[in-house]
Amino acid sequence: MKDLRNLTEAEMQELAKEAGQPAFRGRQLFGWVYKGRTDFREMTNLPEVFTAWLKENAELDSLKLLARQKSKTDGTQKFLYGLKDGNAVETVFMKYKYGNTVCVSSQAGCRMHCAFCASGINGLVRSLTAGEIISQLLDTERETGEKISRIVVMGTGEPFDNYDQISRFIRILHEKDGRNMSSRNITVSSCGLVPGIRKFSEDFPQVNLAVSLHAPVSSLRDELMPVNHSYPLEELIPACRAYTEKTGRRITFEYALIRGKNDTDEMIGKLIHLLRGMLCHVNLIPLNEVSETGLLTSGRKRAEEIQKRLEDSGIPATVRRQLGADIDGACGQLRLKAQKQSDDSSVTVK
Ligand code: SF4
Repeated sequence: MKDLRNLTEAEMQELAKEAGQPAFRGRQLFGWVYKGRTDFREMTNLPEVFTAWLKENAELDSLKLLARQKSKTDGTQKFLYGLKDGNAVETVFMKYKYGNTVCVSSQAGCRMHCAFCASGINGLVRSLTAGEIISQLLDTERETGEKISRIVVMGTGEPFDNYDQISRFIRILHEKDGRNMSSRNITVSSCGLVPGIRKFSEDFPQVNLAVSLHAPVSSLRDELMPVNHSYPLEELIPACRAYTEKTGRRITFEYALIRGKNDTDEMIGKLIHLLRGMLCHVNLIPLNEVSETGLLTSGRKRAEEIQKRLEDSGIPATVRRQLGADIDGACGQLRLKAQKQSDDSSVTVK
């Protein structure tokens, strides 16, 4: 069975031919899939013989909604979706002035084990297919009844540890008979897999890149982000500079502020030294505390002081709005909670 949400438009045309239909039927089918339709009976311009064939030979299923949390303060919604094999992934819907945004997961679990992150606590289970990533977008639109115009690949998982499927996902989003989404409305966030960053700047020079930096020196980054042992700052920063030079695009550095670790005056001085002169922007994130990690947030006031210091040094910086602070805001928390609850075999999250 072919997962239709996993196919490019050309592949859907091939599928139509396989079903004995002209290629343009594949284009029509592609259009329906990206209008969010999952019932072949609603695809009124497709002949019955084709929809009957599709029912036998293709899948167009939604993910299973396992849990949903809604913020009472800012419209953020968090979803826990079940996959066919019983795994679960988180997706976050956010409302911004410039449009609705969805934050999708690229893997179930994560092998990167960043010290502050709930997603990596139990390691990687498996990578998602492009169709499963697209389903998070389509199903979140259906659940919320809202159109989504921007996508950030910043949920659970390291996108460049699943490069082929992320690349397929972006290509499908670009298809003009489907979402026709502009590169500028897509952001991919990596913890710093240098070969992935280099390949991405060749393959998708117009797509936004964010890099989780979180420490300005390798000794601290080793502690917070084990990926630094394989791709230390001394390799990461030149790869980031090369991205900005090749693409002419500004890179975003994510910097989660952890009290007493990376937020001291000394560390901020080193951060300024590291980034000075680069086409970049620093997104300061007051840490969403996850009880399992034992790390504490620096707080909003300290974040604003650091923002001012960076800007005074010529480095553009913002403090991220803490969306969904009244729900399990940090990446991976809802999934972790659901896992614990199923271990306790007591309550459901929904
Ligand atoms: S922060 Fe991202 S890369 Fe690091 S463990 Fe969490 S999901 Fe993985």
